[in-house]
Amino acid sequence: MISGWVDRDAEAIAADGAKAGLDPDLSLRIYTTRLLGRDPKLVLHGGGNTSLKTKMRDALGAEVEVLRVKASGADMAAIEPASFPALRLEPMRQLRARDAIGDEELVAIERANLIDPRSPNPSVEVMLHAFLPHKFVDHSHATAVLSVIDQPRGEQLCAEVFGDRMAFVPYLLPGFGLAKKAIEVFERVGSCEGLILSKHGLVTFGETAREAYERMIAFVSRAEDFIARKRKSVTATPTQTRPPPIAEIAPIVRGACSEKDDSTEGAWRRLLLEFRSGETILDFLDGKTLPRLSDAGVITPDHTIRTKNWPLVLSAPGPAGMAEFAASAREKAHEFTKRYRDYFTRHNKRVGGTKRPLDPLPRVVLVRGVGLFGLGRSKQDADIAADIAEAWIECLRDAEAVGRFESISEADMFDCEYWPLEQAKLGARKEPPLRGQVAAITGAGGAIGAATAKCFAAAGAEVALLDLDRAAARDQANAISGQALALACDVTDAGSVAAAFEKIAEYFGGVDIVVSNAGAAWQGRIGEVDEDILQQSFELNFYGHQRVAQAAVRIMRAQGTGGCLLFNISKQAVNPGPNFGPYGIPKAAALALMRQYALDYGADGIRANAVNADRIRSGLLTPDMIAARAKARGISQQDYMSGNLLGREVTADDVAQAFLHQALALKTTADVTTVDGGNIAAAMR
Ligand SMILES: [Zn+2]
Repeated sequence: MISGWVDRDAEAIAADGAKAGLDPDLSLRIYTTRLLGRDPKLVLHGGGNTSLKTKMRDALGAEVEVLRVKASGADMAAIEPASFPALRLEPMRQLRARDAIGDEELVAIERANLIDPRSPNPSVEVMLHAFLPHKFVDHSHATAVLSVIDQPRGEQLCAEVFGDRMAFVPYLLPGFGLAKKAIEVFERVGSCEGLILSKHGLVTFGETAREAYERMIAFVSRAEDFIARKRKSVTATPTQTRPPPIAEIAPIVRGACSEKDDSTEGAWRRLLLEFRSGETILDFLDGKTLPRLSDAGVITPDHTIRTKNWPLVLSAPGPAGMAEFAASAREKAHEFTKRYRDYFTRHNKRVGGTKRPLDPLPRVVLVRGVGLFGLGRSKQDADIAADIAEAWIECLRDAEAVGRFESISEADMFDCEYWPLEQAKLGARKEPPLRGQVAAITGAGGAIGAATAKCFAAAGAEVALLDLDRAAARDQANAISGQALALACDVTDAGSVAAAFEKIAEYFGGVDIVVSNAGAAWQGRIGEVDEDILQQSFELNFYGHQRVAQAAVRIMRAQGTGGCLLFNISKQAVNPGPNFGPYGIPKAAALALMRQYALDYGADGIRANAVNADRIRSGLLTPDMIAARAKARGISQQDYMSGNLLGREVTADDVAQAFLHQALALKTTADVTTVDGGNIAAAMR
């Protein structure tokens, strides 16, 4: 590992900071924090933290000595000055006189000593930074160092690798106790350039930002060199048979790793998936040590809140096919959740029964011969779990090359997993109603599709936006979030629909809700219309819905957690307009299609509903058409658009709300919801 320090960059960031009135030391603190944060071998997803001791003026203008420490959970790679809350240093140091401090009291003391009370909470490792005397303190969970220290002989190996330049601190739960132990060790040793925190990570310090940072790089490099000398060359045994596609495996894994939500009949607690594979992962999954290592625990304590303490291990789908794989996945997942509940009960009893259980579902699934899945309540959490699982595999591989991997005890993992300050990193518990669900929307580049995708994403769903025009879908996906998936999909082409749903299953792990919305209008007097016109319209306005629903139902049944099919059938399905037969007739067939799905798949928990909407500004009702129709009726455009019983214009957002309602109404199937401001001729009977 080489230092990323570049004089020119450091000078530039300090000069920019000076213009904004920033302390030059803080500018360089930000610079090296970003350097550390951008390397996943040093820092992953909010792990790691840094600090600076400096002086600043408080609200009354008095100069005070402060500790500026990274905020809890802040991303080091993109850190800004506001994520370095400043605390009065002296009162924090005086806490050393205390034997112990409760978490809530410690947070209260920290907040009382913030120079700016609006600051975010300091890192959970703030006291470690406060007690050490150095101006700059850097802390990381570098994987190479963890490979050396996550060992029964960790202390001896450290001496061998780092000599007396690093002092060894035995394992304690991160927080006040560890901070006290660390300063004790430092004072006893006297001179060293950093500390090894057993089975957790390392700390380096210095008088300048560069010194602390480059010591970190130097020690991590030493660990890397040590591992490289010991590592045996691995020869990957090529897999004999190609596993089935990820799009087939993922929905089965996702379904097995879901559980019924007991609070509402028909509701499920679901997770999103992120798949990873490659030579290192496959080697690890193939190894004889897998049964021991998969149970061995996390590489550093705070990973437990992202990955739980151990993964779920599944065998590759065998020649007996996917049904056998599904049965064994469900059985293994059931054993996993039982084991997790037992672990919770056992340790909760030990700590006095004060904790509330987290969901018992796995966060990492290893499928031998295939790869790994990270799981999370959002796609982003699934990505994080997958990143950590990859680092875990690399770390274990190297730990086994230099000795034998050993993690902290199960009790220590529990104490970390259920430490309120760690749980706080995951944010508030109140979740939006569609959290954990995947919604695919066709025609998502158009007005109603785009409004629906936005509405479902706001309700917590992960969304796949499908449109004939991929660029239009991409634009709408970009407006939602980095996790939204944009796909080109022509619903008149069975291959295109199959490919799109394959990608959805690969990317999210499956699908729970489909809004089959793509459509276009054709006109013609039914007795005279060209048959081609009618067929084209049926291809899009009937078979398009059928292809999409069929592809979705296949995935939903593989998951085994129900699902929801929603169709945009338009007013024409129930109230045909003159010369609109080519549009209205396939839409009427789509209404029958919806009812057929409700009938045939109700027993699988799959609901089917439709929205009958009318007169929405969209690609089917353009400004030119509105102008022409208003003129033909001799009324204003406004009066034309609000020409209904309520006298209100109906918007794409109103239609999106109706779809959302249907997605949430777990006891409703075969329903048509009318969104037209009131039109008695189009009312359902
Ligand atoms: Zn740490």
